[in-house]
Amino acid sequence: MGKEYNISKATGRCAACERELAAGEAYLATVIEAGDDLERRDYCTSCRPPGEATGDALAAWRSRVPQPQDKRKVFVDDDVLVSFFERLADAEDPAKVNFRFVLALVLMRKKRLVYDGRRTDETGRDVWRMHFRGDESTCEVTDPNMDEQKIAEVSEQLGQIMETDL
Ligand SMILES: [Zn+2]
Repeated sequence: MGKEYNISKATGRCAACERELAAGEAYLATVIEAGDDLERRDYCTSCRPPGEATGDALAAWRSRVPQPQDKRKVFVDDDVLVSFFERLADAEDPAKVNFRFVLALVLMRKKRLVYDGRRTDETGRDVWRMHFRGDESTCEVTDPNMDEQKIAEVSEQLGQIMETDL
């Protein structure tokens, strides 16, 4: 088994000023690389005003702290998943390759990505050829040959860091 990703979940605090985010408050959610790990970092609107570039974040989206009576899961726009997928394009790390593959499955289910076929590359890895609907250019996705249980685990991890149902 490859090493597991260490993923930090949302802390409920602004990563810059460390203030606790209040119920109903708008904030910027980001997922960044911290060494070999993925880290969730949220920012209040004073520290990261709306419209500011999101820099090196693998994923970033505007969200709002749920009211206590609401369920924890939030809605994340598909475009956030698309850019997360694209920013992992050059990833070689096995855990990131797993994440990217699971994102591809999610985007396929959401009918954003279309499967075109597969090939074996020069190093013997399975590679899926895919394209985005409405865009003819091919993108390739390494198939890490996970079993169903591993796929479920990885999508659970992704859902946790993004606090959403994938
Ligand atoms: Zn702040």
